[in-house]
Amino acid sequence: MAASNLINLGTKIVAVGRNYVAHAKELGNAVPKEPVLFLKPTTSYLQNGGTIEVPHPLESLDHEVELAVVIGKKARDVPHATAMDHVAGYALALDMTAREIQSSAKASGLPWTVAKGQDTFTPISSMLPKAAVEDPQNLELWLKVDNELKQKGSTKDMIFKIPFLISHISSLMTLLEGDVILTGTPEGVGPVKVGQRISAGITGFTDVQFNVQRRPKVID
Ligand code: MG
Repeated sequence: MAASNLINLGTKIVAVGRNYVAHAKELGNAVPKEPVLFLKPTTSYLQNGGTIEVPHPLESLDHEVELAVVIGKKARDVPHATAMDHVAGYALALDMTAREIQSSAKASGLPWTVAKGQDTFTPISSMLPKAAVEDPQNLELWLKVDNELKQKGSTKDMIFKIPFLISHISSLMTLLEGDVILTGTPEGVGPVKVGQRISAGITGFTDVQFNVQRRPKVID
């Protein structure tokens, strides 16, 4: 099965918030004692080379570069020791965020669905097979806007590591083949505006590029 197809066959994207200390602090959040989780729909995927759409009336979205873990085998109540047996591979993903909407939702105690879940809000690379990535906790993630470096961090700085995340999430909801865990973003998040271009990658493994345009207003 083609790698990118496996991602598209998943039932959900489970995203982890505040999984890097420096990023939690840059947004004024406390460092969490257990993972902050939220869901994104699979309809938010965007393949490499696509166009990220900024919904009216916003002028920009925030970029968050993240390592995606692709599940290869059903996981329910999986112990930490065997959690990695459930991984099919990895991908580079962007957790695009309408930060103003998210900030207002946070202030009101409301969910992040509108801020995080819209179409094109999860640009993602093809999957790297697990065997190709010797140590997923030692990968360099980077992101540029119009060729200017904005984010650069290492997956070794994750607060909650991949086996723990799989085990923990599988104790809450069944993970199925093709499901994706977004493992959080390192520091340096910021806006990308209509007309700009994002490039991002995992150094030595993969890179992706996306245009950013305004979403056509189709409903009055
Ligand atoms: Mg994120």
